[in-house]
Amino acid sequence: MHKAADQGPLPIPVEAPDESVAAPAGQGASAAPVIQATAAGGASAAIQEDPAAARARRRRERRARARHASPLLNMIQSLMVVAAAAALIATIFTFWTPASFLSDETREGLRPAYATLSAQSPPTPIPTPIWMRRIGIVSGHWGPHPSTGRSDPGAVCPDGLTEAEVNRNVAQLVVQALSRRGYDVDLLDEWDPRLDGYQASVLLSIHADSCHQFNLPGATGFKVAPPASRTSARADDLRLRDCLLQRYQAVTNMPVHPSITRDMTEYHSFNEISEVTPAGIIELGFLYEDRDLLENRPDLLAEGIVQGLLCFLEQTVPTPLPELTPWPTLESTPTPLPSPGLS
Ligand SMILES: [Zn+2]
Repeated sequence: MHKAADQGPLPIPVEAPDESVAAPAGQGASAAPVIQATAAGGASAAIQEDPAAARARRRRERRARARHASPLLNMIQSLMVVAAAAALIATIFTFWTPASFLSDETREGLRPAYATLSAQSPPTPIPTPIWMRRIGIVSGHWGPHPSTGRSDPGAVCPDGLTEAEVNRNVAQLVVQALSRRGYDVDLLDEWDPRLDGYQASVLLSIHADSCHQFNLPGATGFKVAPPASRTSARADDLRLRDCLLQRYQAVTNMPVHPSITRDMTEYHSFNEISEVTPAGIIELGFLYEDRDLLENRPDLLAEGIVQGLLCFLEQTVPTPLPELTPWPTLESTPTPLPSPGLS
């Protein structure tokens, strides 16, 4: 750094000095030539310093002062070295920091933030099989019977209103509503050949009860029954029943009728469809006592069914309705009031 130090001693003239300065005792080696030169000149016994030597001495003094000023520079350099070392150590420390570095308390505080991050992650799309978007709706008694080739009207009222047309009106509205929601819905006849091995996310057959004027109070309300004799989809069958009972009642405000007949639990289509297709049968109400709703509010009845099916399809677990007091079955009911024209 100090290049001036390499220049070596300057040539020393022998002329007589006009300045007399006693050489300091600790002057160093560079003072010696001055003394020798002066002595060789023989001009004076006193030790004189010539101007060149004085300039050299002043340079040395300036360098000395510069060395006194350099501690500030040295300190800045030291600080830079310390800062660089700190950055390097911090980087290495970060690489080796274990996962458990944060305290339990800190991690507990961060948990909501992590939970929010994971909750915002987009769900992984899972391909949905086509049959899981498929729904089968049987329009009870509609269509020709395979053995006779003729259609069966089901229950018939004295004035000619048939169960088959009541079922049909409601079934069509159910199909329309579910189709609007994006489902592939099949409107099936009672003996539809497509029912053989039918596979869907659910199958529901829509029927209505007798138009008899029973000599007994309480021939009003709706019923839902699952297949009785199969266990392959039992949990789904029961959940479908509970969804329909709860939602249909909530929408229509109709009571649940307690009589479940074998015509329902042993319904023929239950043995025709795929054993894994959840299934059920609903009786919309009694054609005699509930006629006003069945004939004039098919939209309301359809909405009750749609809500029940959506409850099932959206994996809702409904609250089962309370057990009902048994009602005498139709077979054990006292003789219905004679009503001409009934079959
Ligand atoms: Zn029927």
